[in-house]
Amino acid sequence: MERKTIIIIGGGPAGLMAAAVLSPNHNVAVFDKEKNIGQKFLLAGKGGYNLTNNARREELINKYSPTGFMNQALSDFDNAAFREWLLELDIPTFIGSSGRVFPEKDIKPIEILNKIKTSLINQGVTFYKQHECIRFGTNKSITFNHQGEEITRKADYILFALGGASWPVTGSNGAWRAMFESMGIATNPFQASNCGINVNWPESIKQHHAGKPLKNIRLFAGNIETKGEAVISSYGLEGNAVYPLVPTLRNMLNSNIPAFINLDFKPFNTRNQLLAKLNGKEIKPKDYAKHFNLNTSQLALIKAFTTKDVFLSTSDFIDSIKHLTIPVQSLRPVEEAISTIGGINPKEINNDFSLKKYNWIYTIGEMVDWDAPTGGFLLQGCFSMGRFAANSILKRIYIEDES
Ligand SMILES: Cc1cc2nc3c(=O)[nH]c(=O)nc-3n(C[C@H](O)[C@H](O)[C@H](O)COP(=O)(O)OP(=O)(O)OC[C@H]3O[C@@H](n4cnc5c(N)ncnc54)[C@H](O)[C@@H]3O)c2cc1C
Repeated sequence: MERKTIIIIGGGPAGLMAAAVLSPNHNVAVFDKEKNIGQKFLLAGKGGYNLTNNARREELINKYSPTGFMNQALSDFDNAAFREWLLELDIPTFIGSSGRVFPEKDIKPIEILNKIKTSLINQGVTFYKQHECIRFGTNKSITFNHQGEEITRKADYILFALGGASWPVTGSNGAWRAMFESMGIATNPFQASNCGINVNWPESIKQHHAGKPLKNIRLFAGNIETKGEAVISSYGLEGNAVYPLVPTLRNMLNSNIPAFINLDFKPFNTRNQLLAKLNGKEIKPKDYAKHFNLNTSQLALIKAFTTKDVFLSTSDFIDSIKHLTIPVQSLRPVEEAISTIGGINPKEINNDFSLKKYNWIYTIGEMVDWDAPTGGFLLQGCFSMGRFAANSILKRIYIEDES
């Protein structure tokens, strides 16, 4: 097979995976605008660090939107294949609670990144840091700004893996949208995903309850329901139980429909079970906490979002325990979100993630407008896209060689 020159721009999970697939047979260079690659990957490691999720195939695929957009990439390189790949790099993983997949204990995020990087260097990949891509041409050229100097390269294939727009300190700042727009590629504005929500708390909640967790709760928005934990913050709510509601809330907010979440503080008790605890008696509000086993934050939230009449009637109070409605003002800013939607419009892309207008160019990872929840699905999506696009390039080169 003739060795081709392939340029990958963006040293995050999507770009690194593409480099891993292409470099054994071709000349691969990875360019990144930052001093260090993989900074968002390392940031993910400071939090939950769910590398992927053990969800079964059908469930895995259903986590991604737009529907069907990721199916082929995920089918070709699913969670089991990803874990196998990590193991080949001597990165064993384990399945934790709710199917989340973590690196084995004591393996630090930087060790994982270094193992991936070392294997790429061993396969001949060259890295160019502090090279910001500022332009690409219709003649397979690509121009970088390297410390004030413009450098233009040519490649047989170009893969962009420039990331979304959250946490811009990591390098993924979304500034590249203008470059694609200027070349006639439609992009969508970035919006926060997997992020907290803003709630107009009364001062008392901000002062006395910010930082307090709400454990074992159930949350609803529209027809989406989640269980887990949320944390009260000075601005609203954060946490794993909140993030899956964000797409529904975003749609409501974007359509100017009043957005609400409904909170169930006692998901393991039905309304009737809570009523039965009363033995037909009214309970004095001062005894609610003890009687229904509610902590001060739960009680304060119910008080803040119900009328006095509701609070004073035990049976209405039980309704509030099971179904407290809290208005949502807005989502937290893009910069703070775990991920973003927006970026390259999927309509611009062929099934293999090459651009319809410039089919030697591929766009992969979070820079493309798709969405998935936290819990390992984001990294899995990025690695699968990198793998799939790279394999598509290998096939094309093979067919070119044959003809
Ligand atoms: C706090 C936090 C926690 C997270 N935790 C998890 C988790 O536990 N599990 C999970 O699945 N996901 C998690 N994620 C999401 C996950 O990290 C991202 O989805 C993933 O890193 C995106 O990979 P990517 O390759 O598309 O882009 P990125 O990792 O964002 O990499 C893009 C790269 O492109 C470079 N770049 C951008 N513009 C240019 C340019 N013009 N020229 C050259 N280079 C450029 C950037 O410097 C960057 O290195 C988390 C994210 C955050 C912020």
